[in-house]
Amino acid sequence: MIETEMSLKEHDESRQGEAVMLSGEKEETGRKLYIESYGCQMNFADSEIVASILLDKGFSTTADYKEADVVFINTCSIRENAEQRVRNRLKEFESAKLKRPGMIVGVLGCMAERLKSKFLEEEKLVDVVVGPDAYRDLPNLIEKVDDGTRAVNVLLSREETYADINPVRLNTNGVTAFVSIMRGCDNMCSFCVVPFTRGRERSRDPHSIVKEAQELFNAGYREVTLLGQNVDSYKWLPQEDELVRDRAPVTFAKLLEMVAAIDPLLRIRFSTSHPKDITDEVLYSIAKHENICNYIHLPVQSGNSRILELMNRTYDRAWYMERIDAIKRIIPDCAISTDVITGFCSETEEEHQDTLSIMDYVQYDYAYMFAYSERPGTLAAKRYTDDIPEEVKKRRLTEVVGKQRAHSLFRLQQQVGKIHKVLIEGFSKRSDKDYCGRNDQNAMVVFPVNSRYKVGDYVNVIAETCTSATLIGKIDE
Ligand code: SAM
Ligand code: SF4
Repeated sequence: MIETEMSLKEHDESRQGEAVMLSGEKEETGRKLYIESYGCQMNFADSEIVASILLDKGFSTTADYKEADVVFINTCSIRENAEQRVRNRLKEFESAKLKRPGMIVGVLGCMAERLKSKFLEEEKLVDVVVGPDAYRDLPNLIEKVDDGTRAVNVLLSREETYADINPVRLNTNGVTAFVSIMRGCDNMCSFCVVPFTRGRERSRDPHSIVKEAQELFNAGYREVTLLGQNVDSYKWLPQEDELVRDRAPVTFAKLLEMVAAIDPLLRIRFSTSHPKDITDEVLYSIAKHENICNYIHLPVQSGNSRILELMNRTYDRAWYMERIDAIKRIIPDCAISTDVITGFCSETEEEHQDTLSIMDYVQYDYAYMFAYSERPGTLAAKRYTDDIPEEVKKRRLTEVVGKQRAHSLFRLQQQVGKIHKVLIEGFSKRSDKDYCGRNDQNAMVVFPVNSRYKVGDYVNVIAETCTSATLIGKIDE
C-alpha cells in the first residue's frame, strides 16, 4: 500500500503514531497512561474516549512510553503495512517492559479481533486486547491484568455509541475538534475491513452530539468535524419516552442544521459522505448555512462502472457524475476531495483510464490515493483474485497522483487573488512569525501574524500566491 502526500488530511500521515496527552487532567492516582494512535480521524477520536474513561479512574498521561504504567497502541487495519508497524512497536515496548516490571501493554481498536490470539496467546507480546466497542470495560480489564491474567474483550456491539462520554481533547490546538456521530458501517464495499472490525452501523443520539458541540464552543473551540464512515446514512429515531412533538427521524441534513444553530461562529465540517447516500437535502443545508463549510469528501474509488460493481459500491460512473453536478449546481464554490484505489482485482488499462477521466471531470481539490491491498476476510479476498501485479498497481497510482497534483495546484491557483475567511488554528509549522488556518473550502492558508488577532479568531486573508498545498497571503485590513 502506497500512501501519498495527497493523503494528508483524512489519514494524516504526520499524526500516525502520535502519542496523546490529556488536557485538563483530574486528580492523579500516580498511574501513567501512554496511547499511540494510527489510522483515520475516527481512531484518533476513539483514543480521546479511551483517555476520558481512564482519566475518570485517576490516570494521568505521559508522552514517553518508558515511564508509563499502561501503554496502549490504537491500531488501524485498513492498510497491510500497519500490522508490521504495530508488531515492531510492540517489540520496542517489550524491551521497555523488561526494565519496568508491572507495565501493562495493550492493543486497542481495529486490529484487536484479528490479532488477539497472535499477539496475546502465541507471541505473548501484549497483556490486554480491546476492540472498538469495549472501551468501557478497560478499567475492569486493567484490574484483571493487575491480578495476573491476560485480558481480552473484542465484542462488537449494536448499541454502543459512547454518547454519554465527553471525550477529553488530546493534543488539541483548542480551536478544532472531532465529534463522532455514528459508529460502524453497514456497507459491504468488497475491499474494506471496516464492517468486520468496527461492526454494525449505529447513530448517536443527536442531543448528545449538540451538547458536546455546544460545550466545545463554550470552551473556545470554533470548528467541529462530525465523523462517521458514512455520515449520509445518519438516522436517529426519537425514543418512545422522548417528549418531542415531531416524531420524524433526525436525518444527517437535520443534524447539520441542529449543530449549525449552536452559533454562527462555530464552523461545521463532516466526513465521510457516500455517493449513493448524499442527498440534495444535505446539499441545500450546506448552501443555506454560512457556518457549514463548503467542502465535501466524496470517495469515488474508481471511475469505471464494472469495477465499482465489483467493489460493491452500489453506484456507477453516471450516478457519481450526477452527484458531482448536483454539488456544483447547489453549492457552486464547494471544494471536493476523494479517495481512489488503483489496481483493484481484474482492472484493465481502459478501466484505469476511466478513473483518470473522472478525475478530469471533477477536478478534485484533494485526493487520498491507494494501491489496492487485499485484506483478509473481505468479500474481495473471498471472491476475486488479487491479479494486478504490484508494479502495475504502483504505476497506475503514480499516474493518479500526478494528475491529482496538477488538479490540486490548479484549484489553489483559482483561489489566489480572492479574500478568504480563515479560522486561525495556530502558528505555521515553519515560522512563529506566520499564522496558519483553513478557509471554508478546507485549503490551508499561511499569513504573517498580526497581534490584533489571536488563535481562534476569524480573519479575512487575501491570497497572494500558492504552493502545491497552501495558499499564502496577508490579512486584508
Ligand atoms: N467510509 C469511507 C468511504 O466509504 O469512503 C472510508 C473508509 S476507509 C477508512 C478510507 C479509504 O481507504 C477508502 O475510501 C479506500 O479508498 C481506502 N481503502 C480501504 N480499504 C482498502 C484496501 N483494501 N486497499 C486499498 N485501499 C483501501
Ligand atoms: Fe468501508 Fe465502504 Fe463502509 Fe467506507 S462505506 S467504511 S469503504 S465498507
